[in-house]
Amino acid sequence: MQIINPATEEVIRELEEDTQESLEKKIRELHAAQPAWRSLPLEMRIQVIRAYSSLLEKNMEHLANILTSEMGKPLQQSRNEINGARSRIQWLAENAEKYLSDEVMTNVQGMTEKISYEPLGVVANISAWNYPHLVGTNVFIPALLAGNAVLYKPSEYTTLTGLEIERLLKEAGVPLDVFHVAVGGKDVGALLPEMPLDGYFFTGSYKTGKLIYERVAPKMVPCQCEMGGKDPLYVADDIANIKGVAAATADGAFYNNGQSCCAVERIYVHEKIFDQYVEEFVKEVRGYKMGSPVEPGVYIGPLARKEQVDVIEQQVDEAVKYGAKLHTGGKRGTDKGFYFEPTVLTDVTHQMSVMVDESFGPVIGIMKVKDDAEAIERMADTEYGLTAAVYCSDQKRTENILEKINVGTGYWNCCDRVSAAVPWSGRKHSGFGATLSHLGLRSFTKPKSYHLKGD
Ligand code: NAD
Repeated sequence: MQIINPATEEVIRELEEDTQESLEKKIRELHAAQPAWRSLPLEMRIQVIRAYSSLLEKNMEHLANILTSEMGKPLQQSRNEINGARSRIQWLAENAEKYLSDEVMTNVQGMTEKISYEPLGVVANISAWNYPHLVGTNVFIPALLAGNAVLYKPSEYTTLTGLEIERLLKEAGVPLDVFHVAVGGKDVGALLPEMPLDGYFFTGSYKTGKLIYERVAPKMVPCQCEMGGKDPLYVADDIANIKGVAAATADGAFYNNGQSCCAVERIYVHEKIFDQYVEEFVKEVRGYKMGSPVEPGVYIGPLARKEQVDVIEQQVDEAVKYGAKLHTGGKRGTDKGFYFEPTVLTDVTHQMSVMVDESFGPVIGIMKVKDDAEAIERMADTEYGLTAAVYCSDQKRTENILEKINVGTGYWNCCDRVSAAVPWSGRKHSGFGATLSHLGLRSFTKPKSYHLKGD
């Protein structure tokens, strides 16, 4: 398997992919090692996870360089991601005792009823490339804290980062056979549903998630899917600072080159402020520096995957063909690397792919709406249900809008953000189940109820 730098198109490493036999061996080792890991006191597992977080900090520059070289995000955004993973780990480690320890529910007349949160066993973490440290952390950290062993399948586009994660977890004290990496692409991933695993935690596209869910179903083990989105954002007519909102929402659309599951993918703007908002938005986007991701000040690096350049180009060409107005961008890069200019379109409709299919790249469609009712109708018109955002001066008005949209996360005057304190979960084709928060800690456990009668 070749690891290619998306900025230069150079092969930076060649790796041996796992096979059916090597995966079976890894899974046998995980099963053999998991009981001892589970029987350690929780405080010791917490200590190990905290040590991993310290190692992330100590190795920051090295890890950021690896991530940027294989996935293409600007170096500062790689550092931000690693820091983000550290703050999620901090929350999970601080709250593990509270949510993973036995819970006594009642104690009446000699009868004690309690819940014990047992680990699932050996779980698969099939992961995406866009934020490998973050989406990985959402799964393997609580899984390990809860006493599971983990088979981590990083995306083929961030395998070097996956191998670094393994190295640092082991340096931090995770036993050798409690965490293994499955190296390879989709063929290697496709072997996992048939293997003896006790839970599947998938982050990636709807297309793959659906396939995995269907194949895992007969095993009757937990399978949780966090998938794509077409996240809408509405700018109401009463916002005070149009320039500031335009800058913040453009960042929500273009950060990480638009390759965030919760990136703003379509924008609806009240007609009273539409022209001014678009003018400020376009000005902001024209100011973005595109170039080598290791160069300071660059905000738009290459896309991680070559094929996505074609997808974005097709979406833009189709929109323009059917009447969209192109304000800036619209072209792929001319030199080496998988570049596409940050692109802003208006006069878009829901008949255009750019407004309905996940773009996962540096393109945004902005549409004029006449009132909140039309905004709600447009925002709800999607197969996905990850997040929705409203910029507005009035919290009540915002909550009235957000409660009508079928999404796992609603944002008021912010967007494209994740917090470890609240559940991260999708609806419809964005998935189901939750990571992060107390729910995310318990996703990697099975409850056992005890009815204990003293004599
Ligand atoms: P993908 O579905 O192509 O791949 C995800 C993982 O599945 C990879 O490790 C891949 O090797 C593996 N895989 C591919 N085919 C497989 C198969 N048949 N069986 C088993 N495994 C298989 O997704 P991607 O391109 O890596 O990630 C981008 C997608 O992930 C976007 O849709 C994005 O929105 C979504 N995503 C969602 C979240 C979230 O939290 N909801 C977070 C990050 C990314």
